[in-house]
Amino acid sequence: MPHQDENDCDKQQHLIPIEKALDLLLSNALTVTETETVDLINAGGRILANNVGSTLQVPPLDNSAMDGYAVRSSDFSGAEKISLPITQRICAGEVGTELAPHSVARIFTGAPIPKGADAVIMQERCEVEGDNIITSGPISTGTNIRKAGEDIDIGDIVLKKGDIFRPQDMGLAASVGIHQPTVYRRLRVGIFFTGDELQEPDTPLQAGKIYNSNRYTLRGLLANLNCEIIDLGIVGDTLKATRNAMSEAAEKADLVMTSGGVSVGEEDHVRIALEELGQLEMWRINMKPGKPLAFGRIGNTPFLGMPGNPVSVFATFCIFARPFILKKQGANHTQANSFMLPAAFDWHKKGGRCEYLRAKMERDTRGQTTLSLYPHQGSGVLTSTSWANGLVIIPSNTRINQGDLIEFIPFSELNVY
Ligand code: AMP
Ligand code: MG
Repeated sequence: MPHQDENDCDKQQHLIPIEKALDLLLSNALTVTETETVDLINAGGRILANNVGSTLQVPPLDNSAMDGYAVRSSDFSGAEKISLPITQRICAGEVGTELAPHSVARIFTGAPIPKGADAVIMQERCEVEGDNIITSGPISTGTNIRKAGEDIDIGDIVLKKGDIFRPQDMGLAASVGIHQPTVYRRLRVGIFFTGDELQEPDTPLQAGKIYNSNRYTLRGLLANLNCEIIDLGIVGDTLKATRNAMSEAAEKADLVMTSGGVSVGEEDHVRIALEELGQLEMWRINMKPGKPLAFGRIGNTPFLGMPGNPVSVFATFCIFARPFILKKQGANHTQANSFMLPAAFDWHKKGGRCEYLRAKMERDTRGQTTLSLYPHQGSGVLTSTSWANGLVIIPSNTRINQGDLIEFIPFSELNVY
C-alpha cells in the first residue's frame, strides 16, 4: 500500500491543504436564486430548481408486454390443447371491450389489457386456425402483463431539486407529462487571460509569443458545465489593464475566472488588482500543479485566479472550479466520484505537495484495469491532458509501488469529454 514519509513538510506549511481550500470555496458558493422554465427538449445539462412529482401512473393502464393473445387464465386449467375464438383485436393506443369467457383478444405490445383478461399468451405459443387460436395452459394470472403504475405511482418524486438533467431524466420527465421544467438560470462566468506573450491561434505566431491555449481549454470546460460565458479575451500585463478587466467582468458576471499573473513575479498583477478592488481570501494551495490558485471577491462577485500554466488551469478547474460552479448552479452533487485502482508504475519522488497526475486507465494484457502515467508531468505539458483519461491523486509525501491501489478520477466524472 502507499505510505507517507513522516519527515518534513515544513516547506509546505504556508500552503493551504486541499480539503481546507475546497471547504472554504464551497462555503462561499451561494446558489443563484433566479429560476426559469425551459422547454424540456432544451433542458439537457440544466439543474432542476424543484422536485418533479408525478400526477399519473406509468404505465397508465395494465398493458401487454408481448404480441400475443389476452386471455382469462381460468379458461386454461390443464395442459391440454384448447381452441378459443378471437373476438377482438387491440392495438397499442386503443382500449378494448370486456373479454367474454372462453374467448381471447388479439393484442399487441403496449396495448391495454381488456377488462376480464388477466394474462397474455405470447403469439409464438399459439396456432391460428381461421378465427380461433389453439394453445394450451396452464397460465398464471399476470403473465406477460405490465401493471399500471409499476414504474411510477401517483405522487412519486421522480426527479429532485438539484438534479442535473441527463438524457434519461429528460425522458423520465416526459413520461410524467412535464414539458417545461423549472431550472436554475445559467451561471454567467466572466473570463480573461493575462499575459503579454499571448496570441490567438488565428494568425502566425510572432517571436516571443505563445498561443492562448488556456482560453480554449477553459471555454470548453465551462461549456460542459452549461455556463454562460463572458469572454474578455487577452489582457496585457499591467496593473491598470488587469484592474479594468476585473471590474468589468465582476459587474457582468456571477463569477470571474482568469489565468496567469497570480504568482509572485513583477509581471503578476492579478492578486494585487484583486486586493485593490476587493479581497483576497485564499492563495497558494498544497497541490501540484496549481499551487498559485487565488480565490477572493470583487464586491459580491467571487473570483478565481487560476495559474497560467495550461495543465494547472485544467487541474485547478477540475478540482476547485468545477465543484464551486456546480454548487453555485444549485447542483446536489458537486464532488466527482473517484476509484481505487492498481498503479502500473512506481512513484518515489519526494514532493511535499499533493500531486494530480495525468493518467490513463486501461486494461493490461492480463485483463486487469491499471493506471499508467504520462511520462512528462510538467505543468506546461498540455499533451499529458490530451493523452490521459483521468487524474491520479497522490497525497503529499507518499511513495507508490507498482500494484498499490491509488485514487483515480476519470475525466468523465469531471465533465471532461
Ligand atoms: P504566469 O502565471 O502568468 O506566470 O504564467 C505561467 C506560465 O503559463 C507561463 O509560461 C505563461 O506563458 C503560461 N501561460 C499563461 N497564460 C497562458 C495562456 N492563456 N495560454 C497558454 N499558456 C499560458
Ligand atoms: Mg503571466
